[in-house]
Amino acid sequence: MRNFSFFERFSKAFQDHPSLTRIIVVSTISGGGLIAYSEANASYGVNGSAAVVETGTRKKKVVLLGTGWAGTSFLKNLNNSQYEVQIISPRNYFAFTPLLPSVTCGTVEARSVVEPVRNIGRKNVDTSYLEAECFKIDPSSKKVYCRSKQGLASNGKKEFSVDYDYLVIATGAQSNTFNIPGVEENCHFLKEVEDAQKIRKTVIDSFEKASLPDLSDEERKRILHFVVVGGGPTGVEFAAELHDFVSEDLVSLYPRAKGSVQITLLEAADHILTMFDKRITEFAEEKFSRDGIDVKLGSMVTKVNEKDISAKTKGGEVSSIPYGMIVWSTGIGTRPVIKDFMKQIGQGNRRALATDEWLRVEGCDNIYALGDCATINQRKVMEDVSAIFSKADKDKSGTLTLKEFQEAMDDICVRYPQVELYLKSKRMRGIADLLKEAETDDGSKKNIELKIEEFKSALSQVDSQVKFLPATAQVAAQQGAYLAKCFDRMEECEKNPEGPIRMRGEGRHRFRPFRYRHLGQFAPLGGEQTAAQLPGDWVSIGHSSQWLWYSVYASKQVSWRTRVLVVSDWMRRFIFGRDSSSI
Ligand code: FAD
Ligand code: MG
Repeated sequence: MRNFSFFERFSKAFQDHPSLTRIIVVSTISGGGLIAYSEANASYGVNGSAAVVETGTRKKKVVLLGTGWAGTSFLKNLNNSQYEVQIISPRNYFAFTPLLPSVTCGTVEARSVVEPVRNIGRKNVDTSYLEAECFKIDPSSKKVYCRSKQGLASNGKKEFSVDYDYLVIATGAQSNTFNIPGVEENCHFLKEVEDAQKIRKTVIDSFEKASLPDLSDEERKRILHFVVVGGGPTGVEFAAELHDFVSEDLVSLYPRAKGSVQITLLEAADHILTMFDKRITEFAEEKFSRDGIDVKLGSMVTKVNEKDISAKTKGGEVSSIPYGMIVWSTGIGTRPVIKDFMKQIGQGNRRALATDEWLRVEGCDNIYALGDCATINQRKVMEDVSAIFSKADKDKSGTLTLKEFQEAMDDICVRYPQVELYLKSKRMRGIADLLKEAETDDGSKKNIELKIEEFKSALSQVDSQVKFLPATAQVAAQQGAYLAKCFDRMEECEKNPEGPIRMRGEGRHRFRPFRYRHLGQFAPLGGEQTAAQLPGDWVSIGHSSQWLWYSVYASKQVSWRTRVLVVSDWMRRFIFGRDSSSI
């Protein structure tokens, strides 16, 4: 828990008495001591007060939008008292999303997977939180415009603006309905904790409804038909959780429901879990078929009515399926505030905010974006190939020797990770192999002197290895930690840059670019079986991976408090089963 510092208490007094802010601002400026910012009425500083300064220079104000994986990881890792952080998010807690499917069936309780944002962050960094949603970003005036979820902000206005020196956008993404009619109105989504709670209640309500007297068999079957749309990891995990909940807990409690429950999984592609190894996909499809989960592949949903869902097969055949509850889990789309911002900065036709490899939003100063709302636009080697050649050609001879190329290789690999990936994909050990095609007639590698054309042809294929990062918690968390480290060492690295050589300019980049380290992924398949795909394409499926899943997810908890809660929920479930109360 954070303790209130003197400054926090001091500035809380300002928040409660805005006029005090103006008085102190004037008196401190005139006294030549602490510098504070004006506009106290229209905008907010940390704690709604003046920016507090200890060293005589004003603290840099970082506005952080979002308290999800990316934002929280940034907050946890930022460790420099030169900043004051204003967190703005409609959600005053962090949610451990990988356990949301477990919340839908009460395997884990909702409160066990959340941590209040006020508990997160380091003591030496001034942070404060505003429960509001940002609806507009204005890079020209360096302001974000926000709306309080509570209806009234503390200054009596529902809307207010906050200014920033640095803006960190980590607003995530929203569920994508692909504008299919009826989805928004009739389907459940599984994105937030509230969604998981609603699903849990709806499942129990369906069982209660189906147990009422005078229901026709047909109607009972409809009510107990649970449809999951989307065969990605979330849809599959939910279907598996629901199957376990029904077979392990509910069927014995609701004898009338026995024989009427059906779970159907609709997937537009030819297989479920397409992002996993083929062995996992096959195992999952077989397991679901054994469990009686009806997996309909190649089924594209076209419309959702109140009581039935229409799906079209690849052959064009449309069928209408009666349902009781649908969980829609087909992927993510852009949030309106991000769409609007992208239009403003000329990125209107993209799916997510484009950043460079240092997570800076392209075309904006001092704005960073990370997590699901952003995508890194990896610079292509071929865009810079002439600049790379002339940087590497140290003696300016117009040709490149193997030695010159080798010396430049470290910087090239840091700046363009696709080069290393390409070498790996072709099982090449080093650049000598890459240059083989450009070998001189005598075949000796030592004497290679590459002309620009040969250099271009040697590198012409490497950009095929540019990888887009997946929208996962793993990526978001690593980006948050990376950005915090950059912020921590902003001044230090300004003086002693540690990044690769600038190919199109002088000197070095301040920091090394962000590099993602994939640690593997899990697909829980129910019945205490999980599929794990670890780095190096190491695949493990079964009960042992389930234990690995338990230990990884316990260790990844954001605090000891949630770790204890989650583990005790798992133990409770083992001993007593899941709770079937409709709350
Ligand atoms: P989020 O975590 O979604 O956070 C976004 C934050 O921004 C939230 O606090 C939100 O309230 C806030 N916000 C929204 N709009 C605004 C606004 N206008 N102004 C200010 N703040 C705003 N990934 C994995 O790697 N492994 C898994 O096992 C896994 N399982 C998942 C299971 C489920 C059910 C779901 C839904 C996702 C899962 N993911 C998993 C994906 C992972 O949750 C996301 O990739 C991750 O949450 C992205 O982090 P983020 O910080 O970008 O966004
Ligand atoms: Mg040369």
